[in-house]
Amino acid sequence: MTDFRIETKCIQSGYEPGNGEPRVLPIYQSTTFRYTSSEQMGRLFDLEESGYFYTRLQNPTNDAVAAKICDLEGGAAAMLTSSGQAASFYSIMNLAQAGDHIICSSALYGGTYNLYAHTLKKMGVEATFVDPDCTEEELNNAFRENTKAVFGETIANPALVVLDLEKFAAAAHKHGVPFIVDNTFATPINCRPIEWGADIVIHSTTKYMDGHASCVGGAIVDSGNFDWEAHKEKFPGLTTPDETYHGIVYTQKFGKLAYITKATAQLMRDLGSIQSPQNAFLLNLGLETLHLRMARHCENALAVAEYLKNHEKVAWVSCPSMPGDKYYDLAQKYMPGGSCGVITFGLKGGRAAAVEMMDKLKLVAIVTHVADARSCVLHPASHTHRQMNEQELMEAGVQPDLIRFSVGIENINDIIADVRQALL
Ligand SMILES: *Cc1c(COP(=O)(O)O)cnc(C)c1O
Repeated sequence: MTDFRIETKCIQSGYEPGNGEPRVLPIYQSTTFRYTSSEQMGRLFDLEESGYFYTRLQNPTNDAVAAKICDLEGGAAAMLTSSGQAASFYSIMNLAQAGDHIICSSALYGGTYNLYAHTLKKMGVEATFVDPDCTEEELNNAFRENTKAVFGETIANPALVVLDLEKFAAAAHKHGVPFIVDNTFATPINCRPIEWGADIVIHSTTKYMDGHASCVGGAIVDSGNFDWEAHKEKFPGLTTPDETYHGIVYTQKFGKLAYITKATAQLMRDLGSIQSPQNAFLLNLGLETLHLRMARHCENALAVAEYLKNHEKVAWVSCPSMPGDKYYDLAQKYMPGGSCGVITFGLKGGRAAAVEMMDKLKLVAIVTHVADARSCVLHPASHTHRQMNEQELMEAGVQPDLIRFSVGIENINDIIADVRQALL
């Protein structure tokens, strides 16, 4: 589907029925697949032949949806995971092991920060967090002998920092490691990180991709562009024999599919964070309208941001697509068609006023979610980021008074009317 425009890919990519087959992607609600020859089943287990045998490794419904996301991002191969967290975890563990090191932008989703700063550390992988606005020199200085990847979010949740993708990609490549981007907030409708040098893109599909807050899920897309063989000594997992598959070498056997094949054959086999085919089906329905929803999310978010900016009780507003925003220029460069539906703001009354205003909202709900069709708010310092101390909050770009407002696709006048009455 590479020749079609992105709106067409949202609808058509990933699944193409043959003559007389179901028009809509079927849910293959089956853990297993039947074969008539024992020998063929053996070849599947050896990765000598491709085919389905057990849903923990691969399932046709999941693969069709992964193929659509792959096409939207302009990648070479993709896989679904049970959650965004699993996608973040796998994206690193597929190329690093105990004794290794990664570099991350400090403006990260709270769950990713905990995973990389604490859980990965217990597994022997250490992370250095760098200011996303750092100079090239500061970024280059963060690299070590054992650095294996650079990680950042296109638009950070909830700091709304727009990452300078080219700066981070250049530093990663200069040091012979891949650049991994979490593109959850921008979605491929607004930004395709691979076009700016990212090697691997991950998603929490739980957010805009699903779009209706019905399924937790994740995805990993590999561009196929990173040359693992050129940095062979850094990535032995991809470039030396895997004894659990009779000594196959992923890069030699699978070429551009090496990274995703290894993540499926090893990590998914051993850790098992699969997406259920039922959830993949629902995710696919969400993807079919992603392009329509993103446009409306962005339009509504900008209107709410403009309203708040002019309100006497509001101290500050962040919306990367609003002229005057700190990240306006980067947003115009990387996502000129719009950033996302999430904005943040603080009230002159600080943290106490934030909590009071949120409690007064009627249409806009307080929920631990973001980036779905319904407008909602959250106070990260009290909710998603409550494990962080004040300094960690500031480093992650989360001021204690920050309200995260995920602007939905309801009628804009109704959303603004609710905000107006809550600020009275
Ligand atoms: C929500 C989120 C995640 C984690 O995804 P889950 O699907 O909740 O596991 C990762 N990154 C970003 C940017 C997110 O917003």
